[in-house]
Amino acid sequence: MKRSEVPVEMTWDLSLIYKTREDALKALEEARELADRIEKEYRGRLDNAKDIVDCMHLYEKMMETGSRASSYFSLNMETDYTNAENAADYSRARSILTEGRTKTSFVESEIAEADADILKEAVEKGGTVSNYLKDILRGKPYMLEPGTEKALSALGEFMGTPYRIYNQAKLADMRFPDFYVKEKRYPLGYALFEDEYEYEKDRDVRHFAFRTFSETIKKYENVTAAAYNAYVCRDRTMAGLRGFKDVFDYLLFDDKVTRDLYDRQIDIIMEKLAPHMRKYAGLLKKVHKLNRMTYADLKLSVDPDFDPRVSIEDAEKYIADGLAVMGGEYVDMIHRAFKERWIDLATNDGKSTGGFCSSPYGAPASFILLSWQGRMADVFTLAHELGHAGHFKLCNNTQGYFDTQVPRYYVEAPSTINELLLTGYLEKTDSDPRFRRWVLSCTVGKTYYHNFVTHLLEAAYQREVYKIVDAGGSVQAETLSGIYKDVLSKFWGDAVEITKGAELTWMRQPNYYMGLYSYTYSAGLTISTKMCKRILEEGESAVNDWKRALAAGSTVTPLEFAKMAGVDISTDAPLLETIDYIGRMIDEMCELTEELGF
Ligand SMILES: [Zn+2]
Repeated sequence: MKRSEVPVEMTWDLSLIYKTREDALKALEEARELADRIEKEYRGRLDNAKDIVDCMHLYEKMMETGSRASSYFSLNMETDYTNAENAADYSRARSILTEGRTKTSFVESEIAEADADILKEAVEKGGTVSNYLKDILRGKPYMLEPGTEKALSALGEFMGTPYRIYNQAKLADMRFPDFYVKEKRYPLGYALFEDEYEYEKDRDVRHFAFRTFSETIKKYENVTAAAYNAYVCRDRTMAGLRGFKDVFDYLLFDDKVTRDLYDRQIDIIMEKLAPHMRKYAGLLKKVHKLNRMTYADLKLSVDPDFDPRVSIEDAEKYIADGLAVMGGEYVDMIHRAFKERWIDLATNDGKSTGGFCSSPYGAPASFILLSWQGRMADVFTLAHELGHAGHFKLCNNTQGYFDTQVPRYYVEAPSTINELLLTGYLEKTDSDPRFRRWVLSCTVGKTYYHNFVTHLLEAAYQREVYKIVDAGGSVQAETLSGIYKDVLSKFWGDAVEITKGAELTWMRQPNYYMGLYSYTYSAGLTISTKMCKRILEEGESAVNDWKRALAAGSTVTPLEFAKMAGVDISTDAPLLETIDYIGRMIDEMCELTEELGF
């Protein structure tokens, strides 16, 4: 289907951000004028508290206006990449914003140069820009001479080169051949493999797809490794230049997370979750009657034939009922999302795959993109994305623009908790053992597998890479495959055969080009698991704690955020409890399988 043929009720309504495209273009112009004004009025003058605060408020306005307009154009583009006008609008928005940021890059350097007393006064009087000023102060010990900072910012554009090379190799150069099983031809592609064949229940098709996929990506292992090596060495160089103790301290600085917290997340899951997941692999082996359980079989669903179909009306009802415990206002937001068309459900040519939620600051709505297939799994995706919407509704309405830049450490907590609450609700609506096993398998095989296994193993691998680089070494394809294979073998033990090609998983994840992002997935889900338990046991008082934490935006550190939610992540207790919870779900799935006899 072409985008123009999609029925309007399946599309989102971007006029909730701006009535017309012209209005959005006008907002971009406003942002450009603000940048000019900041440069004209404040360059060379940021040596007193009043000017610092006034300038920062203009800067805040510029960022807020520019990013809202840019969201409008990027969201428009996401629904149809084949539309040239959308692409041109978006690239215009990007260039105006980049120009604005370059023009105003003096702001941070000048503020950091001001006397301590002046800065202290500016922080006191800063209001919505106070925390941003505090962050500039916090980063001051690691700032270089203004001339050097300027040179680095001019080179900033090239810092992203490794990731661009990675994407070119992966998205433009890689060509996948068709493969044949029993003389039937199967087309292969990157997304086709990751979205379809990995879950395919026919063993031969699944394994041939895995083999062909692995053999193809292997041809690009050297260019990919070279790009990745450049990326991690860049991090080491920046850490050294700025005077951080090591590359880990440099990478964890912005997340406001200690090395302890980071290491513990990886070490405990590697050790304590592994036995449960090996049992899960055994269950998959049994229900699918496999002779050998291999890496290529891990994405299988426990019961792929059981696939409840759902209408959009039912989805709304399930989610509203499942999240009723969050209170009337929250449920109202859910109904508004459907009624006011916050959600783009269509499947059309040129539309972005996957799902996401965007909540432009200052807009009265969030925008959720997914391709609705009428499956129960889509209901979980919707509940997840509505969790992001609920989070940003609270913090956008409470905080200034800068205080809504939520640390990655807990950004996935409000979304995953909705999946867990929905699970709890569905379990109660139907006591059929097959349905119950299916709900559990969605939670373990999707929610927890994705966050606690896939991304965690990536994090464990990444830590080894950065250790080598930090000690002055470099990494090549062979080293990277070796590290990945070790991590997989350590986690899966004898329960899973590490198929040839599995060691190339280091080539697949764009997250490796986003600092230490991978480990934060399990951190967010640890907080939401504990919080979900509190909500189900304590009701309203726990919900109120949760809402207060969500409304805090980025005014709190990850540790403080968790504390507001009543979760103490300074100890390993929440993590151990979560692992225990996963273990119990796997045990129950095994028992239900005995009971069902298949
Ligand atoms: Zn999410």
